[in-house]
Amino acid sequence: MASLNHPVRILIVGGGYVGMYTAFRLQKKLSRGTAEITVVDPQSNMTYQPFLPEAAAGNLEPRHVVVPLRKVLRKCRVITAAVSGIEHARKVATIQPAEGDAYELGYDLLLVCPGSVSRLLPIPGLAEHGIGFKTIGEAIYLRNHVLSCLDLAASTNDRERRRRALSFVFVGGGYAGVEALAELEDMARYALRYTPSVKADDMRWVLIEAASRIMPEVSVRLSAYTVDRLIERRIDVRLNTRLESADGGRIRLSDGDEFGADTLVWTAGVKANPMLQHTDLPLDDSGRVVCAPNLAVKGVSGVFAAGDCAAVPDVTSPDPNKLLAPSAQHAVRQTKTLAENIVSTIHGGGLHDYRHKYVGSVASLGLYRGVAEIYGIKLRGVVAWFMHRTYHLSRMPTFNRKVRVLADWTGALLFRREVVSLGQLQQPRSEFEQAAGKRELPGIS
Ligand SMILES: Cc1cc2nc3c(=O)[nH]c(=O)nc-3n(C[C@H](O)[C@H](O)[C@H](O)COP(=O)(O)OP(=O)(O)OC[C@H]3O[C@@H](n4cnc5c(N)ncnc54)[C@H](O)[C@@H]3O)c2cc1C
Repeated sequence: MASLNHPVRILIVGGGYVGMYTAFRLQKKLSRGTAEITVVDPQSNMTYQPFLPEAAAGNLEPRHVVVPLRKVLRKCRVITAAVSGIEHARKVATIQPAEGDAYELGYDLLLVCPGSVSRLLPIPGLAEHGIGFKTIGEAIYLRNHVLSCLDLAASTNDRERRRRALSFVFVGGGYAGVEALAELEDMARYALRYTPSVKADDMRWVLIEAASRIMPEVSVRLSAYTVDRLIERRIDVRLNTRLESADGGRIRLSDGDEFGADTLVWTAGVKANPMLQHTDLPLDDSGRVVCAPNLAVKGVSGVFAAGDCAAVPDVTSPDPNKLLAPSAQHAVRQTKTLAENIVSTIHGGGLHDYRHKYVGSVASLGLYRGVAEIYGIKLRGVVAWFMHRTYHLSRMPTFNRKVRVLADWTGALLFRREVVSLGQLQQPRSEFEQAAGKRELPGIS
């Protein structure tokens, strides 16, 4: 790098999987006199997304599946704000805090890793009634919501209302959707032990998938096996089916079926963070930053990108057009290449390619149930579930979090799961507003 009269200013946009891990590696490799590392993220913590289904199901304490950035990135500057645009021609990013005016921040080296967002379709009622499953907030909300629905069903005499409260619809059969549904159904089934007036068969759990199979990450055989296990649990799996409308909370499907549901979870894929549209970086047709195999952004200098937002060629594939799939497996490994290449850039050295052949997938389908395919070997049931837990525990950042996760699992094993519904969390001010006469008591008008 051309010699600077100040430490190299490294700006990392996004403190998720890629951003947090790369900053963590860089702060170990670079002294403060060599580089100033700044991480910008609207959240003050990194979320370990593969554990969201377990957090939603109450096997893990939500706080233990996130990692506080300021605590881990001691030698970095952490800014809790969104980057709303990047002008690389001037080497500045626009920072938008939650409150107050936006401001510009200059940099010498840039790492772009703001991840992905839910890919929504213009389906009537979806934006109003649906919820995604990508954040810890969504996972906690869903847990409380599902338990509140069981409480409502146990407490109302209105049959139609009860049926609606007990209908849970998930759209999208990738591993995130399947895991979220399977874990929440498992939790709800367990919670019904304490709700004698509601039987497991009263619940309707529906998985809607537009393609002819679920979980494209695993083989057709393992995908079919997963469908069979879900059907065994009386989960209604609808392949080759699309959600046509959710207007007024009424679910209308392409197979002609129609019913009311209080719960609609949208897990039908992700797209690159739309913030990238407000940059002068090269993007592909899907809005991802175009990268070389060494994770440097093509056509510009001093910019790297990785993770869900980056289009990176898969150099292990014979197909030169094949790109890496968005996954934590790649994200975490890319950080090693990123850190090495960024340090090398600072010292004027060369860059090396990111090379990793996809190992396989592990998925949990509830307590003691799972599916996995690792190096082509298919695993099922408790063995796969155990693999899922050990693999993700090994990937969970920081020793502190690993121990907490392990303690949560041990506690759940000894004392069974916690099924307290904290529905009040969804509207924390409602009681205060009622006391102040600003809100009517339910049923009194
Ligand atoms: C429920 C679920 C389960 C999953 N399970 C698995 C699994 O089992 N195995 C697997 O391999 N993968 C799994 N994944 C995928 C995996 O989590 C992602 O591929 C991985 O997190 C991508 O890392 P990333 O750093 O690109 O994005 P993220 O980890 O999403 O980080 C992006 C960060 O950017 C921040 N950000 C967003 N907008 C801005 C902005 N404007 N300015 C600044 N920062 C911004 C976000 O707050 C976030 O912290 C799962 C995903 C989900 C949702």
